[in-house]
Amino acid sequence: MAVGIWVLNDQLDLLQAALASSKPDQARVVLVEAEVSLRQRPHLQKQILFWSAQRHFAQELRRHGWTVDLLEGESHGEVLSTWQHDHGITELRVMEPADRPIREAIERLCRKAGWNAELIWLANNHFLWSPAEFRDWAGSKKQLRMEFFYREGRRRFDVLMEGDEPLGGRWNFDQENRKSPPRGLEGPTPMWFKPDAITTAVIRKLEGLQSLHELPGSSRPFKWGTNRVEALDVLENFITTRLAGFGPYQDAMVSKQTTLWHSLISPYINLGLLRPLEVIKTIERRGLEEKVPLASLEGVIRQLLGWREFTYGLYHHFGSQYPTSNALDAKAPLPLFLQELGGSGMGCVDTVLTDLKTSGYAHHIQRLMVLTNLGLLAGLEPQGLTAWFKAHFIDAHDWVMQTNVVGMGLWADGGRLGSKPYAASGRYINKMSDYCKGCRFNPAKRSGADACPFNVLYWDFMARHAVRFRNHPRMALMIRQLERIDGDELKAIRATAAGFEWAQPGQPPCS
Ligand SMILES: Cc1cc2nc3c(=O)[nH]c(=O)nc-3n(C[C@H](O)[C@H](O)[C@H](O)COP(=O)(O)OP(=O)(O)OC[C@H]3O[C@@H](n4cnc5c(N)ncnc54)[C@H](O)[C@@H]3O)c2cc1C
Repeated sequence: MAVGIWVLNDQLDLLQAALASSKPDQARVVLVEAEVSLRQRPHLQKQILFWSAQRHFAQELRRHGWTVDLLEGESHGEVLSTWQHDHGITELRVMEPADRPIREAIERLCRKAGWNAELIWLANNHFLWSPAEFRDWAGSKKQLRMEFFYREGRRRFDVLMEGDEPLGGRWNFDQENRKSPPRGLEGPTPMWFKPDAITTAVIRKLEGLQSLHELPGSSRPFKWGTNRVEALDVLENFITTRLAGFGPYQDAMVSKQTTLWHSLISPYINLGLLRPLEVIKTIERRGLEEKVPLASLEGVIRQLLGWREFTYGLYHHFGSQYPTSNALDAKAPLPLFLQELGGSGMGCVDTVLTDLKTSGYAHHIQRLMVLTNLGLLAGLEPQGLTAWFKAHFIDAHDWVMQTNVVGMGLWADGGRLGSKPYAASGRYINKMSDYCKGCRFNPAKRSGADACPFNVLYWDFMARHAVRFRNHPRMALMIRQLERIDGDELKAIRATAAGFEWAQPGQPPCS
């Protein structure tokens, strides 16, 4: 019997379950660089990271004594079938993918005629809560709320606890973490890297394939880390330079300051280069040693132990139909400016898209309160927008995308993830950012030619969904405000909203 271990490209960890089930002299490891993934038109930065990290991991495995084949080819099926025959592999071990479609694709591949190896799944050990543990927690609860899941996680993994009580006597410091940015706010310089020979080769390969696939974004400069050592450096840099300041300006958005106090660890943790519990425990220990303000320390632990695990748990708990959710019956196609990463005419949207184009990154509030807020208000079709996010973000994977875009961002799941839609007008964006300065639209206006499109869309959204939200405990107030708008003005607002022809080629919305 010859054992093969297929390491998927987001499982780049020496301790991952399939590798842990064997020893270097007992199995052959395979990794695949398949061009088929380019058909989804991923952002160049994302694809460079994925392929380069995989190549670096192959090197690391070899250093640890593993026999490794890194296969390049058109499709996974094609190169793996040949590999399996060539090496007489009779048992293929794979750690369960975090993404459902990948598991289904692997099962299809192994059912194909001529495939002779038995497929063995090993439980995924890259999350703190397995889908089964999450299901047990969810039990028959009527509502699944992140806050209660997070508290359970704090107890279960003994993070920021004093016995049974939360450290500092409170579970939640959100109210202290929502400061708007003062003029000239600057965050610490983030840690970036120069591409090494492996990364440079990947950049060249992808630039060569560029004309065939028209991949979005820029390939250079490429500044992300591509291996575990660099990922650990980024974590260390976050702890020493940004952890203490993480809390207060967590929700702030500042031009040319994309990263502020955010950690930038999502690409690494999602690829397996960092392990969730090591990250959480290191941040906790160092934060306490260095007497970091509890609001900041709790703020970042909440993201990792709370939101990250919750979105993964929900993704599996809600099942395969979740991506088809469309509670608000949103049908609008994607505007051209999203495909082109710029050209909307709106200061906020264009600033975020410019950052995204060069780095593949935007922080949480840029994603939520600018990009999906726009999608929610404009009624963009949920899976179209989810696919766009998945292609364009450096840290995007199906498990994290579906719940964040469909649930948190678009409320397309009708409130299964979040009790109310994150709908916000231009006032919020103006309060939390400097994006409105210099924008040709006026964030204080909701009608007229220079009215901020977020205001126009906000009231149009409330009007479209007034019946649904009139009795909603957290939305009724907004509907009452809507009802106070003069009838003629509301008509004008709605006519302006209906006139945005964002999806038409060559017609940016607000030029
Ligand atoms: C519309 C939308 C799309 C998103 N897409 C992704 C995605 O593709 N990949 C991704 O990892 N996160 C995604 N998020 C969650 C979050 O925005 C990113 O994890 C975060 O911005 C990554 O940057 P950071 O590492 O600097 O995060 P920080 O702000 O420093 O947060 C620390 C860590 O907490 C975790 N985290 C925080 N919020 C979430 C969340 N809502 N869901 C899951 N993990 C979270 C991440 O691992 C992150 O690295 C999305 C959120 C929204 C609203």
